[in-house]
Formats: sequence, C-alpha cells, structure tokens
Amino acid sequence: MSEGATFRHGVHPAEHKERTEHLPIERMPFVANYVLPLAQHGGKPSRPIVTQGQRVVRGQRIVDPDGFMSTSLHAPVTGHVVELGARRHPNGSLVPAIEIAADPFDPQCLPEAAAQDPESMTGDEFVRQVQAAGIVGLGGAAFPAHVKYAVPAGRRVRELVINGCECEPYLTCDHRVMVERPEAVVRGVRILAAKLGVERSTIGVEANKPDAVDLLRSAIGSDEAVRVVPLTVKYPQGAEKMLIKALFGREVPAGKLPLDLEIVVNNVGTMASLADWFDRGIPLIERVLTVAGPGVERPANLIVPIGTSVGEVLRHAGGLKPETREVVLGGPMMGQPLASLDAPVQKGTSGILAFTTSDVVHGNEYACLKCGRCLDACANFLNPSRLARLARAGRLDELEHAFVMDCMECGACSFACPSNIPIVQLIRTAKSSIRGQRSKP
Ligand code: SF4
Ligand code: SF4
Repeated sequence: MSEGATFRHGVHPAEHKERTEHLPIERMPFVANYVLPLAQHGGKPSRPIVTQGQRVVRGQRIVDPDGFMSTSLHAPVTGHVVELGARRHPNGSLVPAIEIAADPFDPQCLPEAAAQDPESMTGDEFVRQVQAAGIVGLGGAAFPAHVKYAVPAGRRVRELVINGCECEPYLTCDHRVMVERPEAVVRGVRILAAKLGVERSTIGVEANKPDAVDLLRSAIGSDEAVRVVPLTVKYPQGAEKMLIKALFGREVPAGKLPLDLEIVVNNVGTMASLADWFDRGIPLIERVLTVAGPGVERPANLIVPIGTSVGEVLRHAGGLKPETREVVLGGPMMGQPLASLDAPVQKGTSGILAFTTSDVVHGNEYACLKCGRCLDACANFLNPSRLARLARAGRLDELEHAFVMDCMECGACSFACPSNIPIVQLIRTAKSSIRGQRSKP
C-alpha cells in the first residue's frame, strides 16, 4: 500500500510487529484470582459497592463512579470477593483494589443482555450509559470515554476521528481488532457519530495494515459518512494532536483540546466496546492486548479479563526467557516498566512486552553534540535538548517558559539522540516536580 498523509517531524523506530500481526486473537483461560484497582482510568477513583465474601456474577457492576470524572468497574468473572484492600499497582505502589476469586465450577458465560437503542436516548442518557459500561479509551491512556462524549452546551462536534494507527512498535492488538471485528468497530463509529451529530467520521490507519484498511472499507460499504484514511507509518502518529494534523492538516494549539477544533478522537477498540455494550449488554470486563518482545517465548494477541495478573498472562504465553531483563506495560516508547509481575492487567493495558539485557542497555551517555536530531524528532516543535539541560539543572521556572508542560512524553527525542541522553526521563521528572510545586498551597 502506498504511503499516506502524515504530520511533520516524528521518528521511525523498527516496527517489530511481524511476529504477532498475523496471529488471531486467542482467549486467555480463566485463572484463580483477579485484582481490580479502583483507579485504573484517568480521573477520579471509583467507589466499591460490594463487600468481602459477596458472590458476584461476571459483568456485574462492583464499583460505582465517584463523580463525573470517574467510571464503573465490573466483575470480570463469576466468583466471590476475597477482599477490598491494598494491592500492587503496575508502578509498584500499593493502591485500593478489589480481589475476586473465580468460581472454578462456573462456566463463565459472557453476560449478554438485550440490545439497547442508543438513538432513542437523550445525549445525557447516552453519556450515563457509557459511564455505566465502564468504557475508557483503550489506546493506553484509559481516559473515561463518556467524558469526551459530554459535549458542553453551546459547543458541537463536526468530525469524529478513530485512531487505528497503533504506531508503537510490537503492539498489534488494535490491528487484530480491526481485522477480526471490523463490523463491531464500524458499528461503534456509527453509534457514536449519530449521538454526537458529526458530519463525518474518519478512521486513520497506518499503511502497514492494508488488510485492516480493506476490511474496514468492506464493513463500511457505500456509506460516505465514514471513511478510512491510510497514513504514513510514523511515530507518534497515534497521539491525538498528531493524528488530527495528519488527517486534516490542522494544529490543536498548546493547552487546547481536539474539542476546541470540534473534533473528538477515540481508539478503534473503544468503538468495538461501544458496540458490545449497546448491542449485547457486555460492559468493559476484558480487553485485547499483545504479548511480545524478545523475552517472550510465545508472542500472542490475547483477549484477557481485566484484573488478570501480568505473571499469569506471561505464563500463558510460554513464560519469559531467562535473559529477560525488563517487562513493560504498553509499547516500548511510552510504556511503563513493571515493578512486579503480580500487577494486574488494567483497562489501559495494550501490551505486555519483555526485553532482554541487550534491548535494555543502551550504552553510555555522552555530552550533547548539538546535532539537532531531537528537535527534528519532536512533533510538538519543542527544544528537547534545552528542556533536558534545564531539567537536569532543576530550573523549573525556565522549563515552564520553554513549554515543558506541552511535552507529551512520547520519547521520540530520546530515541533520536545519538548521545543516549535520557531526555524524556529528565523531562518527565521535571514535569512531576512542577505539578508538585503547583499543588502546594
Ligand atoms: S520533547 Fe516531549 S513531545 Fe517532544 S519528542 Fe521529546 S518526549 Fe516527545
Ligand atoms: S539529539 Fe541528543 S546530542 Fe543531538 S542535540 Fe539533541 S540532546 Fe544533543
């Protein structure tokens, strides 16, 4: 397939998708225990509505949203609540969570309910339904989907953009969802487009997934209100602002949101979740993720109940090779190194990647060569070399004036740097210090 539209700057990391892109999605077998942190979406943690020892049924709501910026959580299996207590988060900290033991004698059938007609709902009812289903952005950030759909009075949405880029190396879960469930993706697009009242919906897919482009187009048929646009393969095209730039040539200004341009952006997997909820009554209790990387024995695309431990998923994928040095949740560019294999798969977990010593050790750091490669890499047109220098010196005021908070922490600058300067790590630490300073009374 020929190259398509794209944004300026960015990088071309090796794709490493060949081992999983053609592997059909397999269902992960049920395990004994599931851990569900209460705050696994962007926004406010949710409120438990079950008690210790209570029997729960697969798909039953176990946590209610605590305010609008919060969402629901459902039992991924039929079983009983072992405990409401502190459990290990992927970042190593202990967080409030619900642990459920699966009933080994239950067939764990999917909870199908009657279809609901979103068209007969008011905008508010639709938003409440999406919140009740616990649907979040499945591209990684896990932002509650209903918040994006609650368009404030006096505003409107003209364009719905669906992100099928999957520009992170190794990850192929979105690709497989587009190939195996194109009708569900398109159905979700149509449901959302009708509720938002958009003029047009555009699914952006990088040109390394020609089968997904073809199958989505077949599912769309002659409907001119939905189109698929192939995009040049480039990182970080999946970032909302880059995708908008690639598709429409329009900039979302610093500090603004796509909604300010009358655009809503969502991931392809999120569209399939909308179809599952409105057509089959299935809330977000499982997700598709990719298990890959040089440290994994049997790479796979798996559908995994939320709350399954990373260790169990890796065991199902044949285990880790002895030379594995690091396990990352998400993609290698923006993913989070895992502190413990006991941590659970969450709604935003798009991948579990294992890397060996030779992948993780990048060699010595050298002085900045002033080569400008990081500037050419930065799709936000920042000066990463300067930001890194200021971050190292702890000059937070100057960093703010240099727009450090606009950095999306995509890591393209670090990838491009021949001196192995950990630019994005320095920026991330500085941003967190600035946020800490701002939150002080
Ligand atoms: S400065 Fe930030 S936005 Fe720019 S390339 Fe580096 S990580 Fe990405
Ligand atoms: S890419 Fe690295 S060496 Fe080159 S200017 Fe940026 S920080 Fe300096």
